[in-house]
Amino acid sequence: MGDVMNVQTEINKPQTVADARKIVSLRTQAFIGGKFVDSLSGKTLSSSSPIDGSHLANVAACDHRDVDRAVSTARAAFEAGHWRNASPNDRRKTLLKFADTLEANAEELALLETLDLGKPIANTTSVDIPLTIETVRYYAEAINKVYDELGPSPSNAVSMIVREPVGVVAAVTPWNFPLLMAAWKFAPALATGNSVIMKPAEQTSLSLLRVAELAAEAGIPAGVFNVLPGDGPSAGKPLALHMDVDAIVFTGSTAVGKLIMGYAAQSNMKRVGLECGGKSPQIVMADCDNLGAAANAAAWGVFYDQGQVCTAGTRLLVQKDIKDRFLEKVAGIATGLKPGNPLDPKTEFGSLVDETQLNTVLGYIEKGSAEGAHLRAGGKRAMTESGGFYVQPTLFDGVTNEMTIAREEIFGPVISAIEFETLDQALSIANDSIYGLAAGIWTSNVNTAHIAGRALRAGNVWINCWDGSDITTPFGGFKQSGFGRDRSLHAFDKYTELKTIWLQLSN
Ligand code: NAP
Ligand code: MG
Repeated sequence: MGDVMNVQTEINKPQTVADARKIVSLRTQAFIGGKFVDSLSGKTLSSSSPIDGSHLANVAACDHRDVDRAVSTARAAFEAGHWRNASPNDRRKTLLKFADTLEANAEELALLETLDLGKPIANTTSVDIPLTIETVRYYAEAINKVYDELGPSPSNAVSMIVREPVGVVAAVTPWNFPLLMAAWKFAPALATGNSVIMKPAEQTSLSLLRVAELAAEAGIPAGVFNVLPGDGPSAGKPLALHMDVDAIVFTGSTAVGKLIMGYAAQSNMKRVGLECGGKSPQIVMADCDNLGAAANAAAWGVFYDQGQVCTAGTRLLVQKDIKDRFLEKVAGIATGLKPGNPLDPKTEFGSLVDETQLNTVLGYIEKGSAEGAHLRAGGKRAMTESGGFYVQPTLFDGVTNEMTIAREEIFGPVISAIEFETLDQALSIANDSIYGLAAGIWTSNVNTAHIAGRALRAGNVWINCWDGSDITTPFGGFKQSGFGRDRSLHAFDKYTELKTIWLQLSN
């Protein structure tokens, strides 16, 4: 019976953008105060699908006036207190209902994400949407299980150390995991009682707009969850500059992260949390006893989601003795992996997000060759006849850490392989980067594993795996990969103020 149903679902999966578009609810207005509204200017942005380049929808293009409206609505909701003052247990129940509502609409959300972004439907169905739901459930369940503190005060006083919501939280998020990156912000922010205003990336606002509606359906009060689509300078910047926004949390590039810090400094010194770029090293030692697994992880650590992953392990450091053998394996995986239609459930490698990103990636590939790196696999645009924006999985050998393709974040499926001789050399190359988001090492020597685990300057260090993590572990960067942590209970730090209340007792 189960098999028959699975077959049925497979058959019903739309294979073209036109067919998929017919079965999703496209929400295109801003969501403010529990309602969909046009942008005050009436302007829209065109959202298209990188699967075939076709037009999907015109989405409200919000600007500073919409920001003012959303901030005053969010502030009023915060002051009214229906959400902030609700008991943690009641917020828990509403957020669990929200998670159930997301789950009931999971297939549609996965389809929206794939349409807008070109990520394989297999990935949005098995990763993006389930992890988004899990994030909401985790913070829902956490909020009535964390306790405030009583300080070690003298017997004639009581010191209470309590956490309070910061107030109005604005979140500016990127296009590579549109819902998941948003959920890492809104779930802990909502759980702790804040009002939130989300600014999705202009390429991918459709899924979050639909989620706003589902949040309202689940009983999140009007004004507590708002979504303002629009481009960064028009909608994100005025949010970050707003005098009545209490915190701005951001996931995106380091360049824009620095602007966000500046906006906070120029306005009201609002709290800032930044998850920015990466150029993560994966080190493969000759003593690794499973080079097959390491090669697979090295390849998929970059080719997953076409390399549009902030933690992509794009600098592949391989010890000299095994380099040729090892890269042979990685090159084999790269050439065997063909870009395909993201709507086909069998596709493992889809399109890039848009034409601009395609040109950026192709530009870096050209630069790699021009600076003397050796192209071992891929390097070309693919599936041009589809009208979409595809590029082949690409591997460069003979890279030095000074080359542009080893220093700058490409955000595409491009591996830069660098040879080293000793562990010390590997660690110093690995740490020679402005970024520090993730790093990894493959070794069978427990000493080497420990030494590297401590020495690598990154927020996530993976030993004999890549991307080992879940919602219970903090995620974030060292250095110019940002500061503040998403996921785990540590995320509550960004959305709460720590207050000390000292109560003096009369004797
Ligand atoms: P991006 O260009 O920095 O954009 C991120 C967000 O910032 C978008 O919503 C963008 O809006 C907005 N923005 C742009 N200019 C702005 C401004 N002047 N003021 C306020 N907001 C502004 O990054 P992206 O290209 O979307 O995403 C890729 C980047 O995100 C990569 O660097 C990647 O490493 C990083 N990332 C990091 C993590 C992490 O957790 N560390 C996770 C995922 C991605 P518009 O695009 O609509 O203009
Ligand atoms: Mg799009």
